[in-house]
Amino acid sequence: YAFRLYVSQTKVQMEHLEDIVAERTEELRRVNEDLKELDRIKSIFFSVVNHEMRNPLTAIQGYVYLIEKVGRVSSKQAEMLRVIESNSHQLLGLVNDILDISRLEDGKLNILPRAMDLASAVAQALNVIKPMADDKHIELAVDIDPNLPMIYGDEKRVMQILTNLLSNAVKYTPNAGHISLVGRRREQDEMVEVIVSDTGIGIPTDQLPYIFNRFSRVEREAIQHTVGTGLGLYITKGLIEAHGGQIHVQSEEGEGSCFIFTLPLASLVEQETEADNEALSYEEACALSERS
Ligand code: ATP
Ligand code: MG
Repeated sequence: YAFRLYVSQTKVQMEHLEDIVAERTEELRRVNEDLKELDRIKSIFFSVVNHEMRNPLTAIQGYVYLIEKVGRVSSKQAEMLRVIESNSHQLLGLVNDILDISRLEDGKLNILPRAMDLASAVAQALNVIKPMADDKHIELAVDIDPNLPMIYGDEKRVMQILTNLLSNAVKYTPNAGHISLVGRRREQDEMVEVIVSDTGIGIPTDQLPYIFNRFSRVEREAIQHTVGTGLGLYITKGLIEAHGGQIHVQSEEGEGSCFIFTLPLASLVEQETEADNEALSYEEACALSERS
C-alpha cells in the first residue's frame, strides 16, 4: 500500500511538473514573440530616424547655407539663421548618435580600418574644436610623437573619437583653462596611447563608474546650461573597443580630467595577418583538409 501510495504521489507530482514546464514554455514563447515585436518596432524607429529626420535636417542646413551665401539678409535675419543652423546641427548630431548606438548594439557598426596617420586625424578634429576653445580662451596643446608609426583605424571614426573627447574637454573646462593631447607609442605592446587631459571641473569619484553608460550625465550646477545628452562617451567607448582598443578615465572633482585610450598600430595588425597566413600555409591547409 505504501509503495502504491508513493507511486501515485510521484505520478501526481510529475503531472504537476509537466504542467509547470508547459506553462513556462508558453511564457517563453510569449516573451520571444514580444522580443521579436520589439525588435521590429526598433527597426522601424531607426529607419524613421534615419530617413524622416536626417534628410529634412540636412535639407534645412543646406538652405540656411545657401541663404547665407546669397548674403542679402539683414543682421537680425543673419542672427536668426545662425540660431537655425546651430539648432539643426545639434539635432543632426543627436540623430547621428542614436543611429550609431543602434548600429553598435546590433553589431552592425561598419568600421573600415586601414593604416592611417594619427596626427592628421588630430589636425582634422582640431579644425572643429579650435573655434570652440578660442571662444572660451582655452589653450590647446598637442604633442604627438613625430616618430609615431601608422595606426590601424577607420579615419572617420578615429576623428569622431577625438572630437567627442576634445569637445567634452572644452565643454567642461571653464574659460582660460588648458587642454592637452598627447599621442605616443605604448612601451609594452604594439598600441598607440592617446591622452586627452583638461584643467576643467573634473568628475566626482562616485560618478566615474557611470560616465561611459548610455544617457549618463553628471548633474552639476556648474554645467546647468551646457547642452548634452550623455551619449558621447558611450559611443566613444564603443568605437574604441570596436577598433580593439580600450579607454580609461582619471579624474577628481575640481581637479580636471584625463581620458586615456589605446588603438592598435598598423604593424600589430600586419603581424597578426602574417601569423594567420603562417598558421595556415597551403601545404598545412591541404594536410588539414585531407585529415578531416
Ligand atoms: P553628449 O552626448 O553631447 O556628448 P555629454 O557631454 O553630457 O553629452 P558624454 O560625453 O557621454 O555626454 O559625457 C558624460 C558625462 O561625463 C558628462 O555629462 C559630464 O558630466 C562628464 N564628463 C565627460 N567628459 C568630461 C570632462 N572632460 N570633464 C568633466 N566632466 C566630463
Ligand atoms: Mg560629450
